[in-house]
Amino acid sequence: MALQIPFDNSFVRLGPGFYQRQAPEPVRAPELIVFNAMLAEMLGITPGDARELAEVFAGNTVPEGAEPLAQAYAGHQFGTFNPQLGDGRAILLGEVLAKDGMRRDIQLKGSGRTVFSRQGDGRAWLGPVLREYIVSEAMYAFGIPTTRALAAVSTGETVRREGGLPGAVLTRVAASHLRVGTFQFFAARGDRSALKTLTSYAIERHFPGADGVTGLLRAVRDKQAALIAAWMSVGFIHGVMNTDNCAISGETIDYGPCAFLDNYDPDKVFSSIDHMGRYAFGNQPSIAVWNLAQFATALIQQLEDPNEVLEEVTAIVHAMPSLIEAEWLRLFRRKIGLVTVESEDMDLVSDLLQQMAENQADFTNTFAALPSGKARNQFTDPRAFDAWNVKWQKRLESESGSQIVMRASNPLFIPRNHRIEEVIAAALEGDFNPFHRLNRVLSKPFEQEAQDLDLQRPPAPGEAVEATFCGT
Ligand code: AMP
Ligand code: MG
Repeated sequence: MALQIPFDNSFVRLGPGFYQRQAPEPVRAPELIVFNAMLAEMLGITPGDARELAEVFAGNTVPEGAEPLAQAYAGHQFGTFNPQLGDGRAILLGEVLAKDGMRRDIQLKGSGRTVFSRQGDGRAWLGPVLREYIVSEAMYAFGIPTTRALAAVSTGETVRREGGLPGAVLTRVAASHLRVGTFQFFAARGDRSALKTLTSYAIERHFPGADGVTGLLRAVRDKQAALIAAWMSVGFIHGVMNTDNCAISGETIDYGPCAFLDNYDPDKVFSSIDHMGRYAFGNQPSIAVWNLAQFATALIQQLEDPNEVLEEVTAIVHAMPSLIEAEWLRLFRRKIGLVTVESEDMDLVSDLLQQMAENQADFTNTFAALPSGKARNQFTDPRAFDAWNVKWQKRLESESGSQIVMRASNPLFIPRNHRIEEVIAAALEGDFNPFHRLNRVLSKPFEQEAQDLDLQRPPAPGEAVEATFCGT
């Protein structure tokens, strides 16, 4: 049966001003790398054969029902406002109503130039496409809100990056691509009517029942607070938390120079362009609050008199740090097997993290080894763990079921940077087996399989990847 995507498009109905209609630019020789059949099934997509999938997910054939467009948005990039960004290398094909009742965007990334491309070529190379595929699907398997990957296709073309590299297109699925920067785009233009339209659309699509501007702000705050806490609980560093990469749905979006911690280090930065450490691991909660403040600033400009809500809006934003902290603590309690609540828990968790930082303990493997009692081996000085362990064991006396809680809260497998780089290097040689294997293992990150133990290992000194790069 031929490929069928049951499009049901709503964003395009907002009218011009929100986007430019733009068909994807065909590529020379598309080949399907991977198709996420389980996700397709959830989206109600009937898959066709590999040739057809390659044609559609490379952008060579626009499927029936698609209304391709590039979305307009603005954003603060590393703190500096840019009033005009927009989809410079992405095309929204349209939306589907998935089997879970949720509306989802289907977007091609790397599909050619648009009116928003500026100096860019509108393309992506294979490396970032595979990286986003792996990491976004791993985040999904952890249970963390995220955009997902439906397909990756190689284009048969060369893109100009550090010499020439093979091109690829990723198909991304998202609850929506509405960003903080989408609101900023219209606020910067003083377009109150568009802001109102966008606000109603966002409420209807993501937070039905939210009451106006402050209701939306509160809902977005709660989603973002939960998201950032979840990132912190698995050692995820987004790397580019610009307001244009902050989805109001609360999904993780735009996997560029993202990476996971190996050894625990709150100051860790991977991104080669983050010179000041603005988006360092431990800074992510504060940046999320900063981004919410930008969202609030943009949102209230649709009101006749923004001063009327200023006090309420300020209170909503100011409550965010404690919401993040509360969720963070809930998650870290579970990571050390605690379900009940004691006032000393914050100190207990913080103490462990401090010892981990001082002793180069691997973040993932330390928590994963807690249930088996082997965590001390992760510390350069295991006695640092022993001292903490005494307090922890005492605290555990008032708990039951700790083992199960820990095993469900601490992934054994994460997409480690050096493994992603290995996968990309192999793919550049035409071997996609490591890519498929890593995806398979990461689809069940809490399950131990003897033959996959090598993927748990942190990088050896020579293997550590210190810098990651954007897809651009
Ligand atoms: P990012 O921070 O990667 O999300 O991208 C920031 C902005 O740069 C967005 O407006 C992108 O659409 C645009 N951009 C990134 N890479 C390219 C590219 N290769 N061609 C055109 N625009 C791009
Ligand atoms: Mg972006």
